[in-house]
Amino acid sequence: MPAPPCASCHASRAALRRPRSGQALCGACFCAAFEAEVLHTVLAGRLLPPGAVVAVGASGGKDSTVLAHVLRALTPRLGISLQLVAVDEGIGGYRDAALAAVRRQAARWELPLTVVAYEDLFGGWTMDAVARSTAGSGRSRSCCTFCGVLRRRALEEGARRVGATHIVTGHNADDMAETVLMNFLRGDAGRLARGGGLGSPGEGGALPRCRPLQFASQKEVVLYAHFRRLDYFSEECVYAPEAFRGHARDLLKRLEAARPSAVLDLVHSAERLALAPAARPPRPGACSRCGALASRALCQACALLDGLNRGRPRLAIGKGRRGW
Ligand code: SF4
Repeated sequence: MPAPPCASCHASRAALRRPRSGQALCGACFCAAFEAEVLHTVLAGRLLPPGAVVAVGASGGKDSTVLAHVLRALTPRLGISLQLVAVDEGIGGYRDAALAAVRRQAARWELPLTVVAYEDLFGGWTMDAVARSTAGSGRSRSCCTFCGVLRRRALEEGARRVGATHIVTGHNADDMAETVLMNFLRGDAGRLARGGGLGSPGEGGALPRCRPLQFASQKEVVLYAHFRRLDYFSEECVYAPEAFRGHARDLLKRLEAARPSAVLDLVHSAERLALAPAARPPRPGACSRCGALASRALCQACALLDGLNRGRPRLAIGKGRRGW
């Protein structure tokens, strides 16, 4: 049976049905609709003001590739300029190939690229070295806990080096829903309280961050990359199978099978979440070592590095963290 006509242009045959709406569209109309929705997210949320110098956290993966491509297409409408900032975590057999994809994108799209490395920023620590250090502690699953904190810091540093006024990351709706689930499962009220909204406004001197793909489903991000023929790196990080996020992802898939709106429902519920006064985390102050926002004497990045340097990385992770 031939495909139905595109519900938008009525001239071409439909190439897909949008996963959420079921609308049958051709590839060109789907990509135009996807870009218009990201534009709406940015404009309605007032995420990127005209004149903003925007650092795109570029990993070479599908999400950041799609984000950079869409924002580049929207640059004239938004009046912003883009800089690609990539973080080299020092993960052998993984990051080098991903960075090669970022370099190809930068060259093809004529966008400036800056690479910052954990090894240079964090006193010689690479993620492989962190993994070796934490493996003996029985906490090898915590690689992503370390990496998430350090990457946030590294991206901030890279963005400052290029004179950025804003940071954008490629988190999509599925990523956000997984994060909300993980925070619930861990009982992490602090992260739940910060997890809603389209980003952070830049408290404590940090650059404002936002997630323009926050309402885009993972399936549509993949479809957009397919129809725009984007070149991206699709292998999984060697430490990803150990991550707690995998359990949240599996649970979310089962939830979505029973309730197709589960992903967006979770994203929106995090936006509306209000914690009781007694459950709210204390107002953050400044890290005594680096001055970044911190809810204890040391910010998370300095606390993790301190634990690593003292050969006691397990002290720096989870709720058992004491004495900072
Ligand atoms: Fe870092 Fe974990 Fe992502 Fe690998 S999977 S890049 S260790 S956060």
